[in-house]
Amino acid sequence: MEKVDCLVIGAGAAGLFCAARTAARGRRTLVLDHGRKPAEKVRISGGGRCNFTNLNTHADNFLSDNRHFAKSALARYRPEDFCALMQRHGLSWQEKTLGQLFCDQKSGAIIRMLLDELDSAGGTLRLETSLKAVEAGPDSFRVSTSYGDISCQSLVIATGGLSIPKMGATGLAYDLARQFGHDIVPVRPALVPLTFEGEIQADFKALAGVSLPVQATARPGPSFTEGLLFTHRGLSGPAILQASSYWSEGQPVVLNLLPDGDGLEPVRQMRRQTPFRSVQTALSSLFPARLVPLLSRFHSGPVSQPVHTLSDRDIAVLEGALQAWHLTPSGSEGWRTAEVTAGGVATAALSSQSLESRHRKGLFFIGECVDVTGWLGGYNFQWAWASAAAAADHA
Ligand SMILES: Cc1cc2nc3c(=O)[nH]c(=O)nc-3n(C[C@H](O)[C@H](O)[C@H](O)COP(=O)(O)OP(=O)(O)OC[C@H]3O[C@@H](n4cnc5c(N)ncnc54)[C@H](O)[C@@H]3O)c2cc1C
Repeated sequence: MEKVDCLVIGAGAAGLFCAARTAARGRRTLVLDHGRKPAEKVRISGGGRCNFTNLNTHADNFLSDNRHFAKSALARYRPEDFCALMQRHGLSWQEKTLGQLFCDQKSGAIIRMLLDELDSAGGTLRLETSLKAVEAGPDSFRVSTSYGDISCQSLVIATGGLSIPKMGATGLAYDLARQFGHDIVPVRPALVPLTFEGEIQADFKALAGVSLPVQATARPGPSFTEGLLFTHRGLSGPAILQASSYWSEGQPVVLNLLPDGDGLEPVRQMRRQTPFRSVQTALSSLFPARLVPLLSRFHSGPVSQPVHTLSDRDIAVLEGALQAWHLTPSGSEGWRTAEVTAGGVATAALSSQSLESRHRKGLFFIGECVDVTGWLGGYNFQWAWASAAAAADHA
């Protein structure tokens, strides 16, 4: 039987990074994946330029049943550490917005960097290998795979979550976690477009492609001020993806369409300066033209009405409606398009220092399969690197 010190299942961002680091510690390391290519999510991430980290990474940017859990790993492997690695490999990056760092080269360059790190440390990657069963012995694991049986001291599970099944996502991590007595925080699609039904869906469909800045809130989550995009099925864009991670069925998402804080001040000014302009013209100066007919419904009078005929109260009512548009999605686009999986292996029985199972020595869970889910903007990769680095020091 093949024998290694450390076997990593899943050659995604977390698995490759962890394997490279355990191998660099002199551990005989093998990483397995059932896919034909490694790290496919890195390849498609960030529109092909991988938003590989976020300079503002903090545990508050993550959803988890235990909001303190991620602190330790995130503090010990920082965005600057990954930037230093990229620099050593001749890669460069740009901050686009809100601390988000994107690779100047194509995402494939990051995959090559991870593979080079693994290779130069003496680790091995084996693709197109599926896992059949894991048995725990007194101080090792016996793992049956389509390529034969492997014995290992440390077993690192890095098979990610359920998002985008056509890219090879499976629930293997959850099955193995259950096998070793771990609880699973119920999983749900996150960073996902929201869908609507009936009349409002028809309205949104007619607006497909229109975008605007908004503040989106799904309680109990925070508010996100970013772009919103109308789609054929509902709403997308960064603000909606962020809010979707906190949204639960039956609950509304509240949109503030006047996120810059000035409210309808421009309309009040117009009332003084160009009093004969219509309400419709006033709205057109604030919003994309195609959106105005829909927003006009928030005004109780005719939109042809000149702005000077609006009372303070009329403006305040319209302002209130535009600042708190309550919309109840019928659902989300689900696993097919969700960027990540919220929930996962419960942190209660994992060490926050090493990501090692408290039920079984030598067993580790890292990356997206753990109940730590980042906001949009490079946080999920930072968690993949940080949790991998934490486990690699012990696996
Ligand atoms: C379209 C898209 C864009 C994204 N863009 C960004 C971004 O720009 N920035 C960011 O921070 N995050 C982004 N993300 C999220 C990010 O890709 C994930 O959070 C990250 O890849 C998780 O890393 P991981 O290693 O834990 O899991 P994964 O990257 O999903 O890797 C898991 C690996 O395990 C393998 N595997 C699964 N099941 C099995 C099995 N049964 N047997 C063997 N192998 C198995 C898979 O083939 C895969 O290679 C994006 C996600 C998507 C879908």
